[in-house]
Amino acid sequence: MKVLAVNAGSSSLKFQMYEMPEEKVLISGLFERIGIDGSYTIKLNGEKVKKDVPLNTHKEAVQILIDELKNYGVVEDMNEIKGVGHRVVHGGDKYSESVLITDEVIKVLEDLIPLAPLHNPANITVINVFRELVPEATQVAVFDTGFHQTMKEENFLYPVPYEWYQNYGVRKYGFHGTSHKYVSGRCQELLGKQDSKIIVCHIGNGGSISAVKNGECIDTSMGLSPNAGIMMGTRAGDIDTSMVLYMKNNAGMTVEEIDNALNKKSGLLGISGVSSDSRDIEDGVKEGNERCILAQNMYVQKIVNYIAQYYVLLGGADAICFTAGVGENSKATRSAIIEKLACLGIKIDPVKNDVRGVETLISTDDSTCKVYIIPTDEEVMIARDTYHLANK
Ligand code: ADP
Repeated sequence: MKVLAVNAGSSSLKFQMYEMPEEKVLISGLFERIGIDGSYTIKLNGEKVKKDVPLNTHKEAVQILIDELKNYGVVEDMNEIKGVGHRVVHGGDKYSESVLITDEVIKVLEDLIPLAPLHNPANITVINVFRELVPEATQVAVFDTGFHQTMKEENFLYPVPYEWYQNYGVRKYGFHGTSHKYVSGRCQELLGKQDSKIIVCHIGNGGSISAVKNGECIDTSMGLSPNAGIMMGTRAGDIDTSMVLYMKNNAGMTVEEIDNALNKKSGLLGISGVSSDSRDIEDGVKEGNERCILAQNMYVQKIVNYIAQYYVLLGGADAICFTAGVGENSKATRSAIIEKLACLGIKIDPVKNDVRGVETLISTDDSTCKVYIIPTDEEVMIARDTYHLANK
């Protein structure tokens, strides 16, 4: 059965088509700069083809995607696609599991737009385009927030007036849930046990840390929005909220400008003044750039703080997992993080750590806790849920 996993952003659309239940990737690709100018890349049989074409709307991108699936002979007829799974950023506290998309679900996603003003509108647009252009396929929503719904009130609430939660839904929701679920699930398999205490470090351009006990999320570092928790590429993460009012009153900035700076001009970029990309920061560190060194040290320390917090929350840990762009690829960041955890008896082997993007156990035999690199795979999770719901 052919299933398409779709991950749409405000100006992009990533897709991966699977033959299920074998989980064989048939074709994948990325449409970029939708509404700006437009280009797309298709990957098939290990080959990549890039084309520049005007992409005014997501609908144009989906139409081209459908045409290309036929051109490349992946499908003869669109009706062969039995399921389309959509990554949806915000499911609020309504959805802990993936769901079949109905008009009612769309209405809930619309109601959640205030909580995810940048993300949910693009998700809804693309869902509607697929419902129109591939009407025979089962459409499924897979939520970034879903996995975190097992958090208890004492962990998901902020110590603010309770009515903010009751009346406006102000609480921690958490994001990257599909990745945290995949990585912690895979780690359980590697540990060979379900009853486990796992800390997942999803560190990419965005980043979040989760504490997972016996397969359930206990706490996670992102909050009401993705701009909470650790320092990220361009996001500040946790801050003293008083600085918003302070900067408004003293720097003549509007709240929107401050919010924009906290999301897009902070983090590694804000501190280094060089780049949001950890590869550039690492180059800067090697060249002795002091602001890059400072940015990297801060980045590492914020991650360590969360790992330490979750280590205590879980009452110890069986494993720490690194995933996403930085976690999978940066040996320097992994080793700097684990070095700071030496007081817990956690150690990695520099030779085993000298690897990129490959599932590997990198801890030493005498480490008190296993440390893994587990490349994330959100797409396969979307495909699995879509396959299961389409066959129900
Ligand atoms: P996103 O949050 O956008 O999904 P990714 O998980 O794709 O981000 O991570 C992207 C980030 O991964 C890049 O910004 C870069 O900082 C980092 N990265 C990728 N490759 C390397 C590498 N070889 N060394 C260090 N960092 C890397």
